[in-house]
Amino acid sequence: MASTAVSEDVAREVTGRYAWADDRLPERCPLHLSPGGLSQGFARNLIFLVVDGMNAGMLTMAHQYLQQTQDSSLNWMRLYRQPQLGLARGVMETASADSIVTDSSAASSSWGGGERIPNTRVNVCADGRETTPLLVKAKQAGKATGLVSTARITHATPAGFAANALDRDDEDRIARQYLEREVDVLLGGGRRHFDPAQREDGRDLWRDFRRAGYLPLHQRVDLEHVPHDTQRLLGLFDESHLPYSLDRLDFPELRRTVPPLVDLMATALPVLSRREEGFVLQVEGARVDHAAHANDPGAALWEFLSFDRCIALALDFQQRHPDTLVILTTDHGTGGLQIGGVGAGYRDTNRVFQNLTRFQRSFELMARDLPQGTPAPRVQTVIQRHTGLELTDADAERLAAELAHLERDADYGPTRTGSFLKPLMAEQCGINWISNQHTGDLVEICAWGPGSGGLPQFIRNWEVHHLVCEALRLA
Ligand SMILES: [Zn+2]
Repeated sequence: MASTAVSEDVAREVTGRYAWADDRLPERCPLHLSPGGLSQGFARNLIFLVVDGMNAGMLTMAHQYLQQTQDSSLNWMRLYRQPQLGLARGVMETASADSIVTDSSAASSSWGGGERIPNTRVNVCADGRETTPLLVKAKQAGKATGLVSTARITHATPAGFAANALDRDDEDRIARQYLEREVDVLLGGGRRHFDPAQREDGRDLWRDFRRAGYLPLHQRVDLEHVPHDTQRLLGLFDESHLPYSLDRLDFPELRRTVPPLVDLMATALPVLSRREEGFVLQVEGARVDHAAHANDPGAALWEFLSFDRCIALALDFQQRHPDTLVILTTDHGTGGLQIGGVGAGYRDTNRVFQNLTRFQRSFELMARDLPQGTPAPRVQTVIQRHTGLELTDADAERLAAELAHLERDADYGPTRTGSFLKPLMAEQCGINWISNQHTGDLVEICAWGPGSGGLPQFIRNWEVHHLVCEALRLA
């Protein structure tokens, strides 16, 4: 796996244009937009794009990475330079009912259910009352509904659009609710909550979904064989979260078996858009958040770039279906990433920032090569090979000693690996993290299409639900 041939190939993919050669969709926004994107009136469809865990520093890192290493731009930035689109843009306050700093389930529930709720719940208020999630309202109006994510499909953000649960970790229950509530398209990870051998109640949800008319998908190739009249899809491509995009670059087997997010979205759209009454689709780039929890800039960057391709797809779809409202935002910041100036007059910043191209494997995967007891010289070699970070002998000795106490978080991987490497990332890449936790940032939100004119320049997360319901004429 670490042969020179693979390394050169990987280096080319990492430093090359960020559209993978084997992916079919356009990386650029269409150049010619239809004039006067309608921001008033009612929408038939909604595409709600969420990148999980993006503070301004994360957006800046991805933006500058493309500017500095490829003389290219994020689709997100291209959007902001399309005056014909009639794009509305604001900042959003991200708090939950019980904290300035939200978790993903309370954040998603605020959009999904229209009320702020306590952290760790899914559409259940402080007083125990359940709100009606957006996808349930859409279904009542006859619309098709869909959830697409790089996380387990039962994870907090998708759940907030369709489920009610006192505890976000009750993912077996959330999977069952998707069936009962007839969410038409479910694409992401999380097989373990559908499999009778792994569910606590032993129920075979795969069987139950099939009986309810869902087409099961298991591998990337299955996306190419979805019949034209398909109305329901259950596609799960990992037991838990989908592998990091950065690791897809390094492992051809992952590229072969696991679809990128944009392909999942491209599969969902034609299935959902067959419904006369329209559809509501939520698409989540979930693992920017996970990588940020792990303070892993390479994994976060590539997750972001992978998500960014969905913006081009949404733009293209909306141009062909102008009765579609698109919302693009994030739920909160994670890790507090910031690019910090390096050197006298900050003049070394651009040079060291280029070292981001040397991150070739996620910390999650790299940690497999760093079991407890790994000797210092090996620690040095492994980290240098996969991140490009240069460790002194003393650094390596310190990290080898700390590895003995490494905690591995089930959801977010080896969060402390990033903590070990923080000073080196700051010096050698200009990348700084404040913590492994969520942050209370005001964040970007923008919208285009019918109803987007209702987006004020400052909005609270729960108000987005009401804006969307008004645009779609949902009760
Ligand atoms: Zn998080």
